[in-house]
Amino acid sequence: MGSPQRMNALIDLINDGESKIVVLSAMSGTTNALVEIGQALFSKENDKATLLIHALETKYKDVIKELYKSENAFRKAQELISTHFDYLRSFTRDLFTINEERAILAQGELISTALFQFLLEEKEIPSVLLQALNFMRINENEEPDMKFISENLKTELSRYPGHTLFITQGYICRNDFGEIDNLKRGGSDYTATIIGAATGADEIQIWTDIDGMHNNDPRIVNKTFPIAKLTFDEAAELAYFGAKILHPTCILPAKNQNIPVKLLNTMQPDAPGTLISSGNQAEGFRAVAAKDGITVINIKSGRMLMAYGFLRAVFEVFERFRKPIDMITTSEVAVSVTIDNTDELEAIVDELNTFGSVNVDGDLSIVSIVGLFPAAKPGYAGAIFDALRNIPVRMISYGGSENNISILVDTKLKKQTLMALNKGLFNLE
Ligand code: ASP
Ligand code: MG
Repeated sequence: MGSPQRMNALIDLINDGESKIVVLSAMSGTTNALVEIGQALFSKENDKATLLIHALETKYKDVIKELYKSENAFRKAQELISTHFDYLRSFTRDLFTINEERAILAQGELISTALFQFLLEEKEIPSVLLQALNFMRINENEEPDMKFISENLKTELSRYPGHTLFITQGYICRNDFGEIDNLKRGGSDYTATIIGAATGADEIQIWTDIDGMHNNDPRIVNKTFPIAKLTFDEAAELAYFGAKILHPTCILPAKNQNIPVKLLNTMQPDAPGTLISSGNQAEGFRAVAAKDGITVINIKSGRMLMAYGFLRAVFEVFERFRKPIDMITTSEVAVSVTIDNTDELEAIVDELNTFGSVNVDGDLSIVSIVGLFPAAKPGYAGAIFDALRNIPVRMISYGGSENNISILVDTKLKKQTLMALNKGLFNLE
């Protein structure tokens, strides 16, 4: 939701009489601003934080002036804004920890949903605002606690018999300790698929301002096209490996319950967008995506030669440090793995050093080519390598799944790589 106009347009999209739960994210720019405020408070730059809070509050004061027609709705919105911003200001006078930072990040969705509910009330459209913090919960592994969510959401819904339109906050949740937490940036999509799965919805729709998932990154290459249909597996690979339109893990709940997901465009509501569902798919290349911020760790050891247990020992280190590995390649005497989170990298390398010589290299990107590549069919590897003939490739992962072929390149070469694949695989300049 970018502006009062977009909020009004949203009402037309959702007010069609079908029963639904509408998951809203914060108004655009808000979460970034809250991140900045949190960072300023964390580094004890309280004056800077005060200025940032003031600037954001001014933005909201302008928004509500434009949004409402009635004095009554405007007054309620004014009161809401000052409550939330007084709350934000209270942190400039107090001790600040990571828990407070998460509480700050939650304000964007709490404000946007309340403002939207006032707008629905003003237009006399019956709706109920559900508080996500009453039912959205992650467990100690930061994964959604589906049992808790579906039980508590059902309890909430049962309090409003006869209602068909519900509004709730995306992104925010409580953690294992009951504290306010979130599903990481872009998490509103994830909230939507979790709620869709928890309620056994007929369909999950994710509305953005682009007409679905594209075959390549439209911010980087010139010509791209929307993909009409993706399988859950293809969409999950694309979301995880960098297609920014979707939260990395948001496909999983929909896939588990086999609920189709549609990616639609608020600017062009009638455009078909992308349908993500189970079912058959033609073989071939569907899309490419890139994930930045990748670090590769290479461990070379004579002890690996014909030994068993070496890989287990290596992986145990990553398990202890709770670092997911994205790509792996091995030779007879070496193994390379990539990670996307370098916290504790030094400690990891120290432990790996006991197995052999360790090399670390950063500023890399994983470029994933997603589609359906049956193992018995020739030509897919050939087409990719042909397209990449002028690009130094650092690592290749092929065969782990029939849906993904990944390569690792220097981030400096990402653009060139995506362009080369656009030409070689999709014949687009
Ligand atoms: N407001 C959150 C963010 O900006 C969640 C979302 O937009 O999906 O990341
Ligand atoms: Mg989003």
